[in-house]
Order: sequence, then C-alpha cells, then structure tokens
Amino acid sequence: MTLLDGKALAAKIKEEVRQEAEKLPRRPGLAVVLVGEDPASRVYVSSKRKDCESCGFYSEEYDLLAQTPQSALLELVEGLNGREDIDGILVQLPLPGYMDEDVVIRTISPEKDVDGFHPMNAGNLLIGRESFLPCTPAGVMALLDEYHIDPAGKRAVVVGRSNIVGKPMGLLLLRRDATVTLCHSKTPNLADICREADILVSAVGRRNLVTGDMVKDGAVVVDVAMNRDEDGKLCGDVDFAAASEKAAYLTPVPGGVGPMTRAILMKNTLLAAKKRQNLC
Ligand code: NAP
Repeated sequence: MTLLDGKALAAKIKEEVRQEAEKLPRRPGLAVVLVGEDPASRVYVSSKRKDCESCGFYSEEYDLLAQTPQSALLELVEGLNGREDIDGILVQLPLPGYMDEDVVIRTISPEKDVDGFHPMNAGNLLIGRESFLPCTPAGVMALLDEYHIDPAGKRAVVVGRSNIVGKPMGLLLLRRDATVTLCHSKTPNLADICREADILVSAVGRRNLVTGDMVKDGAVVVDVAMNRDEDGKLCGDVDFAAASEKAAYLTPVPGGVGPMTRAILMKNTLLAAKKRQNLC
C-alpha cells in the first residue's frame, strides 16, 4: 500500500506558489474573516496566516465577536471586495447559527472567492467552465495526479454530498471521466456501493464509517474527514489499519487531504492575484 502523502505535496505546491508570487509586481493578499470563538476555526485561521507568510503573501485577519450582526459582516466583506491589495476573501465556516451563510458567500466578489463557494464559481464548475475550485476536492485531485492515478474509466464513489466537499468532488472526478456515485445519509447498502469503488472518497465526519470490508482490493482510498478519537487524536472516516490491508493507495489522517486543502487555498489566491493584475 502506498500512502498518499499530502504533507509532502502541499509543501512542494506552496514552494512553487512562493516562487511565482515573488515575481508578481504586487504580492497576493488574502483576508480571512472569523466570526465567533469556535476553537477549530481559530486553528484553521491561524494556519492560513502561517501559510500566507510562508508563501510571501500579504494577509489580514478579522476576528469578529460571536454576536456581531450579519450586516456588519456584510459591510466588512463589501469593503474587502473594493480593496485593491486584497485578492482573496475567505469567511471561515461554519458561521454562527443566526447568520445566513448563503447570503454571506454571495456577498464575496466571485473573483475574490478563493474558497470557490460562490454560486458563480460553483455553477461554472458544474458546467465545466473555468472557476475557482473548492480547495479540498481540488486538493484531492492534485494528490491523485501526483501519484499518476488517472480517474478516467474508473468507478468512483464519494461518500458525502456537501456543497463544499462531496458535490464538487463528484464533479471533478466526473470531469476527469470517472463514473461517479455520490452517497449520503439516506443511501441504502452503502457498504455494497463502496466495495465497487476503484476510487473511494469519504467526506462524512464519522469515525470508522468506512470499514475494511467496504474497500475493494487495490482501491484508492481518500479520507477527507477530520474527526477526533476518544483520546482527542485526529482521525478520519476510514478504519486506517483495516483499509491499509486492502487499498493500493491510502491517505493518512493527519497528513493527507488537510495540508492539500491549505496548499490549494494559496494556489487559488495566487491565481486571483494574477488575474487581477491581468497576468493570466
Ligand atoms: P457535512 O456538510 O456535514 O456533510 C457530511 C455528509 O456526510 C452529508 O452529505 C451527509 O449526508 C453525509 N453522511 C452523514 N452520515 C452519513 C452516513 N452514515 N452514511 C453516508 N453519508 C453520511 O460535512 P463536510 O463539510 O462535507 O465535511 C465532511 C468531513 O470532511 C468532516 O469530517 C470535515 O471535518 C471534513 N473536512 C475536511 C477538510 C480537509 O481539509 N481535510 C475540509 C473540509 C471538510 P446528508 O447530506 O444526507 O446529510
């Protein structure tokens, strides 16, 4: 079994981004907005700041209190939309329950939507036009490419159908000529469907959802999820030990998809900066 080493590939991508960013007339700028006190979100935001530093980007971080009115957040985003030095805007999800994520995402200018969540970018992905791709599924595709895993003609099964991971993951695999099945919480016979997968991507958020007997011999298994075990250790959806007996390729958690998500965010921000400076 070969481990799909997202940590190593992410480091390589970030170094390439750094070298390209250095050549731009103006360095890329990313604004990250966090609302509330969610500790996991705070960790993600601080790692994005570190990534910006290592890629030589300009970055700004906004910490808004949990009770901040939605109108204030929208006003902040609109201000960032108009800023010359800001190429990418990322509002960290999830937002507090009283906010409407759809409205907030729609307020981000599509050309600064480096998360790829705006309906304009999501729609362009659907119809196969150029767009900012959501970082996690784009990171999975980069990982497959790095290991010369060609989805064409393969049976791909994606477990999870969220707008940010499962659906775009399915579309990206479809774009690359895989035959794709999207599964979700109402899917009967999940195990049978997973067993048919040449490429199995799990993006649910439930530890040990994917057991060894759900993995076909020689499959590529990508574990997107980030769960905690009883000791607080990070783990995915896949029973790693059991899956490693069957899979030909497998992502570790941590060190698989997580670092790739961060690296693609940097790549998307570089792309936004190049587009806004009319360099591509
Ligand atoms: P989400 O919005 O909660 O979606 C979870 C999906 O899993 C839903 O489509 C849900 O189905 C499905 N599901 C739930 N229980 C299931 C079951 N028993 N069998 C089959 N499907 C089931 O989550 P998300 O935002 O897509 O994230 C998924 C996981 O990936 C989480 O662990 C998250 O932390 C992780 N994540 C990791 C990264 C990274 O960089 N590594 C990035 C983003 C997310 P329904 O639609 O029917 O409810």
